[in-house]
Amino acid sequence: MTGGFPLKVSDRTKAPAGASVQSSAKVSDQALAKASDPPSKRPVAAPATISAKTPVQNPAKVLVAAPATYAENRVKVGVYGSLPSDSPLLVPVATTTGRSRQRMHVVAASKLAAMSEAVLSSLGFSLLVASGWRPHRWTSFEQYRQSLIEKYKKPGLTDDEAFRLGRTYLAFDSPHETGLAADFGCGGLLPVSATITKQRTTALWKWLRDNAWSFGFTPYISEPWHWECNIPLSVFRSGKEKIA
Ligand SMILES: [Zn+2]
Repeated sequence: MTGGFPLKVSDRTKAPAGASVQSSAKVSDQALAKASDPPSKRPVAAPATISAKTPVQNPAKVLVAAPATYAENRVKVGVYGSLPSDSPLLVPVATTTGRSRQRMHVVAASKLAAMSEAVLSSLGFSLLVASGWRPHRWTSFEQYRQSLIEKYKKPGLTDDEAFRLGRTYLAFDSPHETGLAADFGCGGLLPVSATITKQRTTALWKWLRDNAWSFGFTPYISEPWHWECNIPLSVFRSGKEKIA
């Protein structure tokens, strides 16, 4: 009884496969016949009539219907690696007042400058970065683990539990290490968790939500101040947007 079942399945899978081969052979025969007809004999009116009656075949409508403009495209340190402090790929960016001069990857900085111009003409102020590139802060994974245990250990928690708790607050590596991430510190945005809800009501956040994608910046949805510029690895390494 159990032995009969696979046979049936295999019969069923064979049948449509055979039919499919047959029908695609027929289609391609028809296509060949049409292609070999002189242009005057081809039914040119038919496809135009069909697309006019079927909205889904209108490419413009399809593009407008599904824009993925506010979506994460996370920068992963494992892909790019951490930039060292003396990397020639790091350049200064406009920085929030009172903070030390921030730097970002040269390509991200250039996209940021273009976006800042657009923010200036829409909202009347420029983009300022509160935190751009940051150095990798751990000498090893073990040192990272020990630091978190030290910081988050409390009565009733094992070392592993303290470590797991700490990891939810402090990642081993951060996209900031690539120079492709920015925490904005302007227009009501700033890297402070307590005001997340309020930050999402600012004109700047709404502008970024609607427009940042067109300048190559994508959100980290949990943190309204944190935006990332995910670029191809070749562009990251060369520091040049277009390789001549
Ligand atoms: Zn950040």
